[in-house]
Amino acid sequence: MLTSLVQAVYVIAAILFVLSLAGLSRQDTARRGNILGMIGMGLALVATVVLGLKDSERPVLVTGLLIALVFVIGASIGTWQARRVEMTQMPEMIAMLHSFVGLAAVLVGFNSYLTETHADSVHLVEVFLGVLIGAVTFTGSIVAYLKLSARIKSAPLKLPGRNWLNLGALVVSAGLMAWFLASPSLLPLVLLTVVSLALGWHLVASIGGGDMPVVVSMLNSYSGWAAAAAGFMLSNNLLIITGALVGSSGAILSYIMCKAMNRSFISVILGGFGAEGGTVVAADTDYGEHREIQAAEVAELLADARTVIITPGYGMAVAKAQYPVADLTARLRAAGVDVKFGVHPVAGRLPGHMNVLLAEAKVPYDIVLEMDEINDDFASTDVVLVIGANDTVNPAALEDPTSPIAGMPVLEVWHAKQVIVFKRSMATGYAGVQNPLFFRENTSMLFGDAKDQVEKIVQALAEAKATV
Ligand code: NDP
Repeated sequence: MLTSLVQAVYVIAAILFVLSLAGLSRQDTARRGNILGMIGMGLALVATVVLGLKDSERPVLVTGLLIALVFVIGASIGTWQARRVEMTQMPEMIAMLHSFVGLAAVLVGFNSYLTETHADSVHLVEVFLGVLIGAVTFTGSIVAYLKLSARIKSAPLKLPGRNWLNLGALVVSAGLMAWFLASPSLLPLVLLTVVSLALGWHLVASIGGGDMPVVVSMLNSYSGWAAAAAGFMLSNNLLIITGALVGSSGAILSYIMCKAMNRSFISVILGGFGAEGGTVVAADTDYGEHREIQAAEVAELLADARTVIITPGYGMAVAKAQYPVADLTARLRAAGVDVKFGVHPVAGRLPGHMNVLLAEAKVPYDIVLEMDEINDDFASTDVVLVIGANDTVNPAALEDPTSPIAGMPVLEVWHAKQVIVFKRSMATGYAGVQNPLFFRENTSMLFGDAKDQVEKIVQALAEAKATV
């Protein structure tokens, strides 16, 4: 009776997860999606604990106390981390969380192997695949975390014959699987763990800065498959369903990101495709002089403009400039200026990063457009404000075949009459590539923290209005 009830709760939780994903696909329903997901997860946790207590071989009280203890420890660390993490650190936090899923799958695999005395070959395959996917996810996510948090360089590791190394690791794993199935001893499983840990490390280390968005969503997908594998080993239907949902939605997201960046999905997941043809543009390449502009002059330009497009990037997130940007937008719109936002699919450091920030600052959804929707509008635009974006507005992606980001579609801001770039220096963006946009005739650089500068513009506009 209790087991059937738990299974029924699992089905409800699974439905809530599907509805949650559906809600998360649109900004205006994302909040509801999150709440549904939280309810589903709450139900799943309660049902799993009840099941654990029922099947407990120890006294129920002891098991209950153990579960409560790990719950308190986990929930405290989770709450503490989630409260202190900055929005700009979310990608690294997500990468870190993926590594936990991978590690959990490896531990469940070993536990399942050691405790299941009469394992059949199906179970052995489950254990083997769970450990393989889990170990790849574990080290891959750690490298992604280190790269995203700038603890190691984001440049690709270029070992000679790296594709052969990856292929070799897969062939060795297949051999180990045959050995493990023929004689299920601990040795092939341990060897597999070592090979998979190295493979995960190498796969992600070989991928360069510009392709990191795909890596993050790909590891998201791997973590889902690792969870699904753990679900098979634990015979937990909900874990299988949840893992498959995360695995497939992560794979779809990776595919969409690859399309957005004009990369081949297979090549990126095989590691390091992005860096293959490109050479980093020498920092001393002479692009000519750049021009500087001051906030007051930008305010004048905006006051005279009829059409304005704002293209935000990672710098807007760092500066937390979304609120003054929303304020500026409201003022310009009130003065009859047509203001739109152009959002690049990989702007910022995580999928949908800019959309989240703009929604947070209550910028109306209908003026926030995707790259494909807005690229044709730049030619008829008076002023483009590039606020903390760099790689996503780099013309070299289209014009320089030797650039590491060659082929990646970008926001073609340079077609506008006037482009203002907000940043603090002439430093490069995440991909480490110089940006010829900064040296164009119609581009002016507004140096300084994006939030301070936008606030100055808003103030100048307010003062100009007051004196009229
Ligand atoms: P970039 O990372 O290319 O550039 C951001 C710019 O913001 C920098 O040039 C920096 O210049 C400027 N900046 C930083 N802080 C401030 C500040 N306080 N005020 C003003 N400017 C500031 O940003 P994009 O959004 O254009 O591109 C995203 C990059 O990140 C792409 O290469 C993408 O591939 C990668 N990426 C994206 C992920 C995703 O899922 N979206 C995940 C991982 C990587 P300066 O230092 O001079 O101020």
